[in-house]
Amino acid sequence: MTATRILMLGAPGAGKGTQAEKLVARLGVPHISTGDMLRAAVAAETEVGKRAKAVMESGALVSDEIVTAIAEERLAQADTASGFVLDGFPRTAPQAHSLDGILSRLNVKLDACLALTVDVDAVVERLQRRAEIEGRADDNTDSVRRRMDVYEEQTAPLLEHYRSQGLLVEVSGVGEIAEVAASIEARLGSP
Ligand code: AMP
Repeated sequence: MTATRILMLGAPGAGKGTQAEKLVARLGVPHISTGDMLRAAVAAETEVGKRAKAVMESGALVSDEIVTAIAEERLAQADTASGFVLDGFPRTAPQAHSLDGILSRLNVKLDACLALTVDVDAVVERLQRRAEIEGRADDNTDSVRRRMDVYEEQTAPLLEHYRSQGLLVEVSGVGEIAEVAASIEARLGSP
């Protein structure tokens, strides 16, 4: 069976976004990234964007209420019928609980929670490279450190939530992009 409803977890800089892009291209499903949606809201200066901007730049988390509303609205759109790759949501226990509710209201189940594992040195190097290439406002040193702490404290515990549901698939995110993508394909199946 090929997984098409996939949730991605991993520390900042683990390569989630890159591998999510590869997966959606291969599976033909939408890439749902709360980080991308929030950055678009900031750029468009919407109410949500105005509230999220400073929080994002500091490396802290935007409120569960805001991101849950964004994710729910996006997941309810018709193009998710073929599946989706959810990237960056949930990040906290309340968000994971909300997602369980959203999916059950939509009458769908996740096929897999894909966790990309990395060591911190590799992550820091990758984030520094990304800062040079993309100039993301939240890739300064303090913010990177804050995002690592937030991940360890609030997001890493979710691995257990998905392990207990029998959904957790752990893949090493260290290595060339194509190698990591091949490992993911081997574990999740191809269409
Ligand atoms: P990302 O692109 O996924 O690394 O997200 C960039 C930033 O957007 C994060 O550091 C948070 O400030 C915010 N963000 C994205 N997704 C979430 C979420 N699920 N919960 C809270 N904040 C989020």
